Amino acid sequence: MKIGAHMSVAGGFENAISSGLEIDCEAVQLFVKSNRSWTTREVKAEEFETFKKARAAQSGISSIFCHGTYLVNLAAEDKEVLAKSITCFELEFGMSTSLGLDYLVFHPGAPKKMDVGKGISQIAKSLNAIVKKFPKSNVKILLENCAGQGSTIGRKFSELAQVLEKLEEPKRFGICFDTCHAYCAGYDITTEATYAKVMKDVENEIGLDRLYAFHLNDSEYELGANRDRHAHIGEGKMGTKGFTWLINDDRFKNHPGTLETPDTEKFPQDLKRLKGLRR
Ligand SMILES: [Zn+2]
Ligand SMILES: [Zn+2]
Repeated sequence: MKIGAHMSVAGGFENAISSGLEIDCEAVQLFVKSNRSWTTREVKAEEFETFKKARAAQSGISSIFCHGTYLVNLAAEDKEVLAKSITCFELEFGMSTSLGLDYLVFHPGAPKKMDVGKGISQIAKSLNAIVKKFPKSNVKILLENCAGQGSTIGRKFSELAQVLEKLEEPKRFGICFDTCHAYCAGYDITTEATYAKVMKDVENEIGLDRLYAFHLNDSEYELGANRDRHAHIGEGKMGTKGFTWLINDDRFKNHPGTLETPDTEKFPQDLKRLKGLRR
């Protein structure tokens, strides 16, 4: 696995690359806009070009991808929230395309009181409309599994599969596997036998060829807790050794895996622990 972290774009998109290289990231995730706002500042075309040049000028970081805005909820029952979510998603999909990023990772959403099946249909319908607006984009949209907090869709890989089945251009989509979310949703990847079982489930429900990226986070909460709080590697319930099987899985040799742990100051320590597991 190409191991890296979620880096800040403060002061310019290219800063995510330089600061990632400083701490020996092999992959980088970034936000293209504030993750807690519906809108963005005006971005000039040169800014995209500067980023693309910076990316082309180095070889240490193989994959760079975007994480979507947290406010976006394509399963929202409230029509106003849904409309804002679609507009915001299009904005960051367009920006990710201009930056030449590999993927846009997003949380499928929470239908709250609405029926889960309706929520799933609404997510697929929104995604179908969004990709049609960007026929030439090479950015793959990845649905991320969730911890199962509240009414969120994607606690089971079968739920993500249900969304994927409804997509009209399936090749433009895939999934991102978050280790903390999987663990809190009841998928134990910390032993060789249970790890194999979890990946078999992903293979059966979705297909490993549709799994493109990972989020590497330890978990504050125990297996199946359905709560989402990331811990630094080795400081949570999964433990450093719990990442052994994933990190050394040859099927994911060139896949990116990025940290989303709470304190960026501790990224170097987390990276060291994960890389230390390599055989
Ligand atoms: Zn994540
Ligand atoms: Zn999370």
